[in-house]
Amino acid sequence: MYSRGAQPLSPKLFADNLKVFSKAIQLGRQEDAHEFLRCLLDNLTLHLGQVPSVVKKEGSKHTVVQSWFQGKLQSTIKCMGCGAESHTLDPFLDLSLELQADGGELYRSVEQALKGFTKTERLDGDNGYKCDVCKRMCRATKHFRIHSLPKVLTIHLKRFSFSFGHSGGSGKINAPVLFENECDISPFTVDRETAKYSLFAVAVHQGSSTHSGHYYAFARAPVAPYPPGEAKAPPASWYMFNDSNRRSNGGDGSSRS
Ligand SMILES: [Zn+2]
Repeated sequence: MYSRGAQPLSPKLFADNLKVFSKAIQLGRQEDAHEFLRCLLDNLTLHLGQVPSVVKKEGSKHTVVQSWFQGKLQSTIKCMGCGAESHTLDPFLDLSLELQADGGELYRSVEQALKGFTKTERLDGDNGYKCDVCKRMCRATKHFRIHSLPKVLTIHLKRFSFSFGHSGGSGKINAPVLFENECDISPFTVDRETAKYSLFAVAVHQGSSTHSGHYYAFARAPVAPYPPGEAKAPPASWYMFNDSNRRSNGGDGSSRS
């Protein structure tokens, strides 16, 4: 854990009291990093909710966790009979992205996975749409766009697949996924205004099975202010955190997970 001092903080106190924070997640057992994150954020929301909430412009109240991590996803269904559109907004604390298209090909970058996530689907046949205007089942299209962006965007790459490959069996998708150090999310938003995020941390699962493995993480040190007279910021310093080991990992402008 990061601290401003020279010594890292040990998570021992946190680990020793894990049962206070979750009965489902147990020390020494194989657990899932995404489930852990959701559990952590849910608990922080519950307990930090007791401090004064941040009041948003539109009058709705957010907890501290929501004010940092929560965005809104818009799903749009368009009736192909009359052209009427229906919009639904749902809050999210992270985006879970498939790494495999319906046709079986793998997405090789976060950008490709976001394109897959926001692609237009057809609703037809048994999966048809009951249109409120036509008052009958119709063919329709459906797509997702990000309606409002969080300050901190968390992306979950779904490496554990339960319909992997043409055989349809379960397994882990081990193919590398590229992500740039700076990512513009605007093509995937409703208003398409510039929305750039800088990558600052990655959690990695090591192991080929969906049932076991080991997690470790990369994180970027806080970027120092531009030196006087310099047009460019110094290169980011990345570190790998693997249990009690920490080492510098450098930085080359792009990363793979
Ligand atoms: Zn209609």
